[in-house]
Amino acid sequence: MNQVTGYFCTDNRIPVSVFYPINESKEAVRKAKSYCDQCEMRKACRDEAITLRIKDGIWGGMTYEDRNMYLRQEAFRARRDSVLQQSTLHVQQHPVYVNPSSLFDTLPEQNHTQQALLSAVVDGSFSPPNSQVS
Ligand code: SF4
Repeated sequence: MNQVTGYFCTDNRIPVSVFYPINESKEAVRKAKSYCDQCEMRKACRDEAITLRIKDGIWGGMTYEDRNMYLRQEAFRARRDSVLQQSTLHVQQHPVYVNPSSLFDTLPEQNHTQQALLSAVVDGSFSPPNSQVS
């Protein structure tokens, strides 16, 4: 999706300069984002800006900084999901009994993936097959 063929940003009633605020003041950025919020091309527009590594302008309702933040969040989510999936597989393939609540104290505060897995074991939403209860 190119901004030249975009929706609001190519509407003659709205100058394209709205999407390239010169000083990126909060008000100017908010105004551009308000148009993007209503645009049906928003996700495609954002993805294209990311793919083409475009540094200028509001694309898909995001500034360059917003797009970088979005990429970091997506990378974190992908890594978290991968670790959780691998942890789940590991527990399923190596069933042993562990008193999950005893592990909470040993986990670092920021290890959310392991805490989430242990929480699932504790509340019964996940139980490793063939687990032994002592
Ligand atoms: S999301 Fe915003 S910049 Fe992208 S096509 Fe729509 S109005 Fe234009």
